[in-house]
Amino acid sequence: MDFGFTEEQLIIQESFRNFCEKELSREYVRWMDEHVDFPPDELWQKFVDLGMFWGGIPVEYGGQGMAQVDGMIAFEQICKRSMSVALALGVTMGFGVRFIGELGTKEQKEKYLPLIGQGKFKTCMALTEPGGGTDILGAIKTTAEEKSDRWVISGQKVFITGAHVADSLITVCRTEKDKSRSRSLSTIMVPRETKGVTIGRIPKISCHHCDSVEIFYEDVEVPKENLLGTRGNAFYEIMTVLNPERIGVAMMGVGIIAAIYELSFKYVQERQAFGGPISRFQILQNYLADMCINLENARNITYKSAWLCDNGKPYHLEATMAKLVAAEGARHAATFGAEIFGGYGVCDEYPVSMFVRDAYQIQFSPISNEMSRNMLMQFQGLPKSWP
Ligand SMILES: Cc1cc2nc3c(=O)[nH]c(=O)nc-3n(C[C@H](O)[C@H](O)[C@H](O)COP(=O)(O)OP(=O)(O)OC[C@H]3O[C@@H](n4cnc5c(N)ncnc54)[C@H](O)[C@@H]3O)c2cc1C
Repeated sequence: MDFGFTEEQLIIQESFRNFCEKELSREYVRWMDEHVDFPPDELWQKFVDLGMFWGGIPVEYGGQGMAQVDGMIAFEQICKRSMSVALALGVTMGFGVRFIGELGTKEQKEKYLPLIGQGKFKTCMALTEPGGGTDILGAIKTTAEEKSDRWVISGQKVFITGAHVADSLITVCRTEKDKSRSRSLSTIMVPRETKGVTIGRIPKISCHHCDSVEIFYEDVEVPKENLLGTRGNAFYEIMTVLNPERIGVAMMGVGIIAAIYELSFKYVQERQAFGGPISRFQILQNYLADMCINLENARNITYKSAWLCDNGKPYHLEATMAKLVAAEGARHAATFGAEIFGGYGVCDEYPVSMFVRDAYQIQFSPISNEMSRNMLMQFQGLPKSWP
């Protein structure tokens, strides 16, 4: 068993670390968090110049066909600096490339994948509805009806990350009236500029520089060829996207733990109380020790999940565990990082407060911690909490 990275992987790690230190400095990230709802074009272009978007695109469409582990090595460096930027990139690289790459026709792949590679096509995944994100089959009410050569879509989605800037809203709709709930969903690409689409802002405490918004569809007409995958089978097909998403979100948790640990470790050595640095208080050392352990555990299982995925082995359970371990590690780091900083833990003066807020976004998304635990046992054969 070898836990080390190859020479090539160390180069990826080093080059992304250098890139992120320069382009995602603490000052710039803070500026974004205070002023923008999505990373600015100039930063996007720097990722384009780095070749970022070609990474996961298959070689036959001009990409690098990068392995999941290699992609995660690069992603880890971004997650440590800004979860918002990681999310903003992830909704196109994770959802766009995967949905189109796995489910698209040859024509769809030839049309869209190179555009994504060039950084000219942004996507989002519009799955969740106001009725609930956990019970997805019960909650989806958005319909797409066939009308000659078009789909006519009506309904509403909530919390859709990056939809306000996406070129295409990859929308899961109910298309079948007479089939079982799990055989009635289809995925349709909806250009954001289409008549009848409106976007509403949802103010939130986390990830300020990557908004998650609501989408209203009012008799939105798109050509029939915008169907992605096979009609009625979206519930099963989207698993090819949702399972790897858990690995990416786990890495966001790793990034949060690492950032809070780094900032807290420095702070305890600088801050003075009772005639010396607060680093000498064992209770604060214990908080840091737990962060360190959580970081190691979360990082290991996240890379293990990516490795299983790359090697064609089942990884669904590990990816779910990774998301859970990383999310709870991030929440622990947020709670105790804020304690270590005292009052400054909740003030914007120190960068730690952004990570503290962001940590809460991965507790329930893309799957809640409660449901993750349920799934882990229910896939082992215990009674299910869903029909
Ligand atoms: C900032 C943000 C970004 C997001 N980005 C996207 C996106 O890009 N695209 C997208 O489609 N969605 C997105 N989501 C939606 C996200 O996936 C959902 O919020 C998530 O699935 C939980 O759904 P819910 O919020 O409706 O909570 P609910 O499903 O209403 O759950 C509420 C509570 O009930 C618990 N619960 C529900 N069912 C069970 C059960 N069977 N057993 C035990 N407990 C249960 C949950 O664990 C939770 O604690 C985002 C959400 C947010 C807030």
